[in-house]
Amino acid sequence: MSQDPNCIFCKIVEGKIPARKAFEDEQVLAFHDIAPWAPVHILIIPKQHIASLAEVGLEHAGLLGHMMTVGVRLMAELGVTNGFRTIVNTGADGGQEVGHLHLHFMGGPRPWARG
Ligand code: 5GP
Ligand code: ZN
Repeated sequence: MSQDPNCIFCKIVEGKIPARKAFEDEQVLAFHDIAPWAPVHILIIPKQHIASLAEVGLEHAGLLGHMMTVGVRLMAELGVTNGFRTIVNTGADGGQEVGHLHLHFMGGPRPWARG
């Protein structure tokens, strides 16, 4: 599994930085965001280091689908019954702050977001 020694999310995968895990398998890790924007705010990451959505190719299609379905399932398991928001920030202009691909899944009673 390729990891970046300077990447904060790789360190979470390796257990060097703690996180409140919600789900884990061979391919992906899901954990609660440290600074949640919503009552339930989960990040889904691939265990392998992929810098952003801009780096993915067709070979990652299965992984991306898996990440998405893990997020959907977790929303239900965490009691999000009235809809949720899914965001992927990509690159500097996309507002990406952590350079390891992650899906945001946010839910829970509004108001908590614009739009
Ligand atoms: P981005 O802006 O890159 O899409 O979002 C990065 C997210 O990662 C932010 O919502 C931020 O709160 C979260 N985050 C950054 N560092 C950590 C950390 O060490 N642990 C956890 N659980 N979340 C983090
Ligand atoms: Zn990484």
